[in-house]
Amino acid sequence: MLNTCYFYCEQCKKERHFVPLHRAFKFAGVSRSTMYYWIDKQWVHWRELPSGRRIICEESLSHSAKGNSDAGPPAEKSSRKGTAA
Ligand SMILES: [Zn+2]
Repeated sequence: MLNTCYFYCEQCKKERHFVPLHRAFKFAGVSRSTMYYWIDKQWVHWRELPSGRRIICEESLSHSAKGNSDAGPPAEKSSRKGTAA
């Protein structure tokens, strides 16, 4: 299987480069658990493959990686209306 692929990102509203988890947290320079935390908080865009593996929108990663070497939340600029998780 390829390590990277393009999928439609519902948050970006366009086709994005998605990377698997193990690449995503390296790319962002955070730990695996931090990446799961980001996913949980939906600070990164992600989607699940039919196989159950999660892949991460690289665009959202590059935002998250800025000024956040660890654990810190990316700046919550997106005015998100109270979406129940
Ligand atoms: Zn995205």
